[in-house]
Amino acid sequence: MNNLTSTQGAATVGIQLRIPYALPLIDEREIQEVIHSLKSNWLSRGPKTLEFEESFAASVGSPLAIGLNSCTAGLHLALLAYGVGPGDEVITTPYTFVATVNTIIHCGATPVFVDIDPVTMNLNPDLLEQAVTSRTKVVIPVHFAGLPCEMDQILQIAERYQLKIIEDAAHAVHTKYKERMIGSIGDVTCFSFYATKNLTTGEGGMVTTRDEEIADRIRMLSLHGMDKNAWNRYTEKGSWYYEVQQPGFKYNMTDIQAALGLVQLSKLSYMQDLRELYAAMYTSAFSSNEALILPADLPGHRHAWHLYVIRLQEDMLSISRSEMIELLKEAGIGTSVHFIPVPQHPYYRRLGFSVDDYPETKKAYEAAISLPLYPGMTIEEVNYVSYHVNRIVDAHKR
Ligand SMILES: *Cc1c(COP(=O)(O)O)cnc(C)c1O
Repeated sequence: MNNLTSTQGAATVGIQLRIPYALPLIDEREIQEVIHSLKSNWLSRGPKTLEFEESFAASVGSPLAIGLNSCTAGLHLALLAYGVGPGDEVITTPYTFVATVNTIIHCGATPVFVDIDPVTMNLNPDLLEQAVTSRTKVVIPVHFAGLPCEMDQILQIAERYQLKIIEDAAHAVHTKYKERMIGSIGDVTCFSFYATKNLTTGEGGMVTTRDEEIADRIRMLSLHGMDKNAWNRYTEKGSWYYEVQQPGFKYNMTDIQAALGLVQLSKLSYMQDLRELYAAMYTSAFSSNEALILPADLPGHRHAWHLYVIRLQEDMLSISRSEMIELLKEAGIGTSVHFIPVPQHPYYRRLGFSVDDYPETKKAYEAAISLPLYPGMTIEEVNYVSYHVNRIVDAHKR
């Protein structure tokens, strides 16, 4: 596989899995760039962060990007930048990582869930309009697994009711909706560079937007609320004086992260090609297995294949999803489940939410298994996983 080798040993706590669920693809280039950052003495936000912001923005067709320490920080600051607060409602999907919804809570606003479409596993756009009230301010579509949401329909409803769109694109780096890159469509788009994501900086995130004023506000809120050039206050060009108009947060990206990000971005299309190839291999291996529901890939869009989620037709099988996960583990295969529905977590239950109100989400969750899918895998490993998934399913058909 060219000269790229995966880092061995990460994510193997407990039993040694033959094929871990996820591994980053870090090679000598990332290591050298990080060393370069360390030697340059810029450890915090600095020139590499600016360079990464520019390159990333260009790669998704957005004029502006702001590097942050996570996607969660991006979602939080985007909501605050639009003034979302107590009394406001924010619509999103219950089938997401809890960070999407926690940030709505952090703003003091009220989350409103719209159930998923069972085919795409994304927020069902046909149910969106009926969830809009006079208090709705923002919609947060989440591009689950890297498959784009139905943006035309969401944009239309947003325009009709004057709502802002903040996209959770944690899975969707270089996803395309029709001919448009995710990152160039909504009012603000938030990307994640967490360790398991398609492009990683260890921890990290980026927001993109066309709106200069919103970008300035997010940049300011990411650095204590200090005015915009405070990051270079210790240099010759900077000044010791700054003003704080609003109590901000400490959410900025560092140059060490950006060093990783620049190299990861330069090899992203190579990594995405492998994800696409491996996803196609899974799909062809499973396509004749009627006890499995396979992930949708809608023609005319580009899927980022962050996740490959199969769903078991449990009525056709004598084992449960959890038993299947155990049997895969016995074969040395790491898996995960995306996602535990947000309304099912005790905190959200105490707020009065119930997963029973979102039947498609509940059904998807109970049947879902995420298989290993990352560019550090070999073709043999993908075949090994495919073989064992089919073997276990076939051995337990009713
Ligand atoms: C990973 C993830 C996040 C959070 O990303 P961080 O960079 O870890 O904050 C948010 N939403 C979804 C859907 C995710 O998968």
